[in-house]
Amino acid sequence: MKEQIMIVEDEPDINSLLLKILESAGYEAVPAFSGTEAALLLEKKMPDLILLDLMLPGLSGEELLHKLRDAMHWDGPILILSAKTALKDKVTLLENGADDYITKPFEPEEVIARIQAALRRSGKPKDAAAPLSYKSLILYPDLRKVLANGRELSLTAHEYELLYLFLQTPEKVYSRERLYELVWKGGYYGENNTVNVHVSNIRKKLKTAGLTEEYIVTVYGIGFKLQ
Ligand code: CA
Repeated sequence: MKEQIMIVEDEPDINSLLLKILESAGYEAVPAFSGTEAALLLEKKMPDLILLDLMLPGLSGEELLHKLRDAMHWDGPILILSAKTALKDKVTLLENGADDYITKPFEPEEVIARIQAALRRSGKPKDAAAPLSYKSLILYPDLRKVLANGRELSLTAHEYELLYLFLQTPEKVYSRERLYELVWKGGYYGENNTVNVHVSNIRKKLKTAGLTEEYIVTVYGIGFKLQ
C-alpha cells in the first residue's frame, strides 16, 4: 500500500507541483487548500505524513500544528513548508512539534529526501524496504543495521543516516552543507565541523570492520561521495 501524504497549501500552483512530485515518487497525495479543509479531512482519516504551509487562509499552519499535536495527540511526521526563513520561527516550530522545515522555493529532490527521512524516523514502514548493498557493505533499512564484510557496525543515528544516504546514491557527490541539511534536519551549517567528524568516525569503523579500501572519499573542495 502506498504511503499517504497530505499537502496543506493554499497556492494552487505549489499544491499541484507538490502533488506531482509526491506521486512520481510513489506516494499517494491528498491535497488540502486551507487549514480548515485539512482539519476536516483529518477528522476522517490521518495520513502517514503532513506537508504543512504556514500562511493559510482560515486556520493557519501554526494553529493546525498546535491542533494536531496538542488537541488530537497525533504523533505522525509534520514537515513545515514555508518561505518564512527566520531562524527564530524555525526553532519555535520545531519546539512546537514540527519534525522538519523546508524553505520555499524548494527542490523536488529535497522534498522527497526529507519526506523519506521523516517517514523512516517515524518508524512505520508499510513495506519491507529492500537492503542496499555496495561492494562489501549491506544496509537493512527496516532493521537500521549495516554489515561490513558480514560484521555488524555499531553506528550512531547520524552515522547510520549518512551511510543510508550514501548507499542510496553511490558516486553522487554531496557537499558538507547538503549532508548537514539532509541528515541533521537543516539548521545553520556555518563553520561547523560536524559532518567531517562523523565521516571520519564512519571511516574508522569501516576500517575496524576489516575494509581496507576507502569507501567514503573526499572530493576536494566539494565534499564526499561513496566510492
Ligand atoms: Ca500560503
